[in-house]
Amino acid sequence: MEFLLHNTASGERDPIQASDGKTVRFYCCGPTVYGPAHIGNFRTFLIQDLFRRVCEASGLKTTHVRNVTDVDDKTIRESMAQGMALREFTASWQEKFEKDCAELNLLAPHHSPSAVDHIDEQIRLIEQLMEKGHAYQGNDGSVYFRVSSFDRYGELAHIRRDAQKENADGRINSDDEYSKDDVADFALWKSRKEEDGANYWESPWGDGRPGWHIECSAMSMRYLGPSIDVHGGGVDLTFPHHENEIAQSEAATGERFVRHWFHSAHLMVEGRKMSKSLGNLYTLADLKEKGYQPEEVRWALLSGHYRKTLNFTFDSLKAAQKALGRIGDLVEKLDLQAEDIDDLAPDQLEGDFRSAWESLLTDLNVPQALGFLMKEISRGEKSAGSLSKDEAVRWFASCRALLNTIGVNLEAWLSRRVSEEDTAASAPEEISKMAEARWAAKKEKDFAEADRLRNEISEAGWLVKDTPDGFELTPVS
Ligand code: AMP
Ligand code: ZN
Repeated sequence: MEFLLHNTASGERDPIQASDGKTVRFYCCGPTVYGPAHIGNFRTFLIQDLFRRVCEASGLKTTHVRNVTDVDDKTIRESMAQGMALREFTASWQEKFEKDCAELNLLAPHHSPSAVDHIDEQIRLIEQLMEKGHAYQGNDGSVYFRVSSFDRYGELAHIRRDAQKENADGRINSDDEYSKDDVADFALWKSRKEEDGANYWESPWGDGRPGWHIECSAMSMRYLGPSIDVHGGGVDLTFPHHENEIAQSEAATGERFVRHWFHSAHLMVEGRKMSKSLGNLYTLADLKEKGYQPEEVRWALLSGHYRKTLNFTFDSLKAAQKALGRIGDLVEKLDLQAEDIDDLAPDQLEGDFRSAWESLLTDLNVPQALGFLMKEISRGEKSAGSLSKDEAVRWFASCRALLNTIGVNLEAWLSRRVSEEDTAASAPEEISKMAEARWAAKKEKDFAEADRLRNEISEAGWLVKDTPDGFELTPVS
């Protein structure tokens, strides 16, 4: 069965193919590293990771590039506000981002280029656009892309040229309106400004810095060539970012930039997009603090269809926790040694496990796949006592194969559960009693007493952490 994915450009479900017959070349717009990535960002990156896993499980090789946006208004503004050099500032956020990626079991991209490390490539691309008459220097010294020079502008987002003008109130291509020939034109190179401090580079058009859009075109071309198979990002990037990427790339090379555009819908909180600027965000650390495991967060963030907005709720995390708990209980009941069980390829799956895999191949339908998986879990629970050893092993191998494709690391989750049970059991009785008293005080809203007990517990060398169902004790290492 072919892997089909909705393509924003065609409006259809198109098959995923490697146009060079070898590898699917896949570019994702990466994080802007000026603060912690929130779970909304991770929804998008997880969906992209799922796409790559499904490609690879279906036998397609991939080359995956995800850039790091480390030079833009926000990274410059924040680094300066904190009195730090841009690189030093962005490196610390990038490191945190990568740590969260690893915990959420995101496959590391084959290349993670940073915009600051590719200024030369961006300058060369702008030079090509200047030579071909698609770009001009405005009277503020900045270089702009002339949108009217590119006929297909607006095709991806299905926006007519006159509508762009109607919308041109500064929200879409919000550069300095008076310096450019047309309000729809966008900056390729921004001339040096006082407020950018030391963050400027030399160029044929004077000191300055690249615009955000050109970064992605230059890095995509550098690592994947002028024409690629799939380009992904959150739906907010469709316009103007991806529209601008197409215009400047195709105007420069004369080749089709991207065959398949892959956009995912947003994670919402109470009807609004989760975002750094609205401040309505949760990070992985926030959720871990509340006692949820990364595998549960991954499950919950992937549980809605990627083309529909997903409302973030703690109930969805609890549902993920419960589903993994049911699998864990069943594995215990079946008395299986996971490490002795061989891996199973998705095309060896049968029954509802097979249907689940086929759901993933059909526009990454995770909710349907999880529905089939839950059916197999119920079936396993009902027949656990009567399964032969071979049947039990096959059930586990199928379940693990499917979860691996979704990227939920069952073994990591199971081993953490066992070690937590061990630590909980090993806390001395007096410590457990104090922790119970603290929990009771908390429930009575006697926070002073709860804090006092927490300190006493911590002085005795134990850390007490709240979980959705109570508390957890871990020795302070
Ligand atoms: P940024 O760090 O803002 O450059 O965003 C990185 C990625 O996260 C982009 O692909 C955005 O489209 C995506 N994104 C931002 N907010 C959300 C959200 N609330 N839900 C899903 N994706 C998001
Ligand atoms: Zn981009």
